[in-house]
Amino acid sequence: MDQPTPATAGDILMTMRPAAFIDRDDTLIATRSVTAGTDHVGDLLDPRQVELIPGAAEGCRLLSQAGLPLVVVSNQGLVARGRGGLREVEAVNDRLRLLLREVGVELAGLYYCPFHPLGRVPAFKGEHAWRKPSEGMFTAAAAELGLSLSSSWAIGDSPRDVVSAVTAGIPPGHAVVIGKGPGIFYRDLVDVAKVVLERRRQEAAE
Ligand SMILES: [Mg+2]
Repeated sequence: MDQPTPATAGDILMTMRPAAFIDRDDTLIATRSVTAGTDHVGDLLDPRQVELIPGAAEGCRLLSQAGLPLVVVSNQGLVARGRGGLREVEAVNDRLRLLLREVGVELAGLYYCPFHPLGRVPAFKGEHAWRKPSEGMFTAAAAELGLSLSSSWAIGDSPRDVVSAVTAGIPPGHAVVIGKGPGIFYRDLVDVAKVVLERRRQEAAE
């Protein structure tokens, strides 16, 4: 009787897909502008306040249609700081999933890290391998979802989004920051998606 051929490392690599890793706060949804003037700027806890940033829906749709699984990776140190609980974070995450689903986008994964070294909630106080700029969320997602980090992309609004992605093994040229400011070349997710799609077309043609 024929024995099944064991999978080689090469076979496994061939089946691993690139993904788009996307930061949540101020990359997909507005938090600083929504919480401006409060004593908790940047900490979004109310799902009714969740709104997609201009370009986020279309950018996600383009990336998703190009066959890239979308994985959200988000620091939520506000849990450690006692601003809110896991339930509030999950409610905001659920609202984000819903808003994206309404434009035809299904997330492949959503990872967040509730820890913070300066936290005051004992269960979440401390450094954690998942907390950006560490790379734990990327490597956990890659292992769970069968993703190839060396061909993935990462999009965020902060240098720590880039550092965590590159530390995980995403090429530096594939880890980008969106927004305004010196040295930022992408205004929004649509800008990034167009470049990703063009690069993938070029690579497929090579
Ligand atoms: Mg952010």
